[in-house]
Amino acid sequence: MKTLRLLLGDQLNSEHSWFKKVDTNVVYLMAEMRQETDYVKHHIQKVVGFFLAMRSFAETLRSKGHTVVYRKIGDKDNPQDLGTLLEQCIAQNNAEKFEYQLPDEYRLDKQLKEICRSLPIPSEAFDTEHFYTTRNELGDFFGKKQLLMESFYRMMRKKHNVLMINGQPEGGQWNFDQNNRKKWTGNPKIPREITFSKNVGTLVEEIAKVGVKTFGKINTEAFNWPVSRDENLQLLDFFCEHLLENFGDYQDAMHTEEKFLFHSRLSFAMNSKMLSPREVIDTVLEHYRTHQKEITISQVEGFVRQIIGWREYMRGVYWKEMPNYAQYNKLDNHNPLPHFFWTGDTKMNCLKHAITQSLDHAYAHHIQRLMIIGNYALLTQTHPDEVDQWYLGVYVDAIEWVEITNTRGMSQFADGGLLATKPYVSSANYIHKMGNYCKGCFYQHNVKTGEKACPFNALYWNFLNEKRPFLENNPRMSMMFSLLDKKSKNEMEQLQARAIEVMTHPDRF
Ligand SMILES: Cc1cc2nc3c(=O)[nH]c(=O)nc-3n(C[C@H](O)[C@H](O)[C@H](O)COP(=O)(O)OP(=O)(O)OC[C@H]3O[C@@H](n4cnc5c(N)ncnc54)[C@H](O)[C@@H]3O)c2cc1C
Ligand code: SF4
Repeated sequence: MKTLRLLLGDQLNSEHSWFKKVDTNVVYLMAEMRQETDYVKHHIQKVVGFFLAMRSFAETLRSKGHTVVYRKIGDKDNPQDLGTLLEQCIAQNNAEKFEYQLPDEYRLDKQLKEICRSLPIPSEAFDTEHFYTTRNELGDFFGKKQLLMESFYRMMRKKHNVLMINGQPEGGQWNFDQNNRKKWTGNPKIPREITFSKNVGTLVEEIAKVGVKTFGKINTEAFNWPVSRDENLQLLDFFCEHLLENFGDYQDAMHTEEKFLFHSRLSFAMNSKMLSPREVIDTVLEHYRTHQKEITISQVEGFVRQIIGWREYMRGVYWKEMPNYAQYNKLDNHNPLPHFFWTGDTKMNCLKHAITQSLDHAYAHHIQRLMIIGNYALLTQTHPDEVDQWYLGVYVDAIEWVEITNTRGMSQFADGGLLATKPYVSSANYIHKMGNYCKGCFYQHNVKTGEKACPFNALYWNFLNEKRPFLENNPRMSMMFSLLDKKSKNEMEQLQARAIEVMTHPDRF
């Protein structure tokens, strides 16, 4: 039976069972489409990264003998929308059956189900064979109980026998989070990053010519994201060889001179499925086993937790809670996103660095996303829709299932605590403790009121005060509220006045 198989841009899993043998009756369809470039305004590096990875994947399939129909963004016969594209390709290839892999985004899942209902031929959906968990596994595990990442994580460790010895966690404890909080002050030295320099001038012109609106910077002569399985395997090896031994310790550190520190940069590789989380974990564990003199358990556990813990947890929460999740605004926040999110033009040094780096490289590490940019957006009571749009566009790894759960849930607490146990908010104290941003800042981290006072301080206390009705019953917040209650009326009035000034005129600060 002549079959048309769709491969979406984030389904670049060359190890999928579909590709085990060449079947001359199967045509694979891949397409760069305006419906995907335009559902949110993306960073130019994200569009280039995905298109290059898709083109490279199509070539790999062809080189193995598979038949691939590929529509480039500028092709005249590209209808730019999935429904029309499928009708066209089914007719052109005389397909008698349509097959696709389950999309990771709710939006595409819904669209494909609708398209399939109106197709003249039968259709079938297949697993992507990528994640450890199925879509519903987290929902089944928790049932009606309150979600908790830690219990999900322990279940995953046991179920997949990761860092377990005789049913007990290796190293005697499940979680070494307390060890993962060192500030980086120049030592240990950060190895020179591995680069994947490519000239992408022609592709950037192609994208601009059809009118796709993007933002952010790109070095067209030296595009640096790995876009094939081979390149990503090199990145994984580099991580094991050079970064893993310090990963856990400096996971939360921030530094003006180092954008990657000891982070792996593997999120794009995994989210596009060029690498599977299982092979990443297996490779890291294998390296750890053979290098136990240099690498301690807390470095490895810190990494494992991010992938079999947080990453799978986010996916599970997404499928459990969508589509309602995308509407949540439980803290009732309504301010617009400041203009400086698009320029990096602010006197607040931490935000200037984290945002400029995001605009220049389509990358920021977790703590920059959570405790600098997200912290500020939440403290300034920004509407979660605006925060989501920005995060979904700016990072090369941003795909809704993992972006929205991190942004709306973990960072903005807009789900009212469904995913995280408390809002991730802090004053300047935390930012000063974990990095060197405050050193070169116009503001002073330890000053609360007056012209030089760090805006994070007034915003923090004002946020606790204003959002108290939503948060005061949360036991994990009680310490913060008891400190708030110790503030004098006069101090509170000054803090509130400054916070209102920052929220009303964010671009003046
Ligand atoms: C507000 C906010 C938005 C985020 N948006 C995204 C997003 O759109 N896409 C995305 O992949 N990650 C997102 N994250 C999670 C995390 O910041 C990135 O996965 C990480 O920074 C990617 O860089 P890395 O590969 O160097 O990560 P490393 O620090 O090296 O971590 C290793 C891997 O663990 C996984 N991981 C780590 N933390 C998380 C997490 N919280 N959720 C899911 N997976 C995690 C990633 O796959 C990552 O590649 C977001 C976090 C926050 C706070
Ligand atoms: S002083 Fe405040 S604004 Fe400046 S870097 Fe520190 S935390 Fe950020």
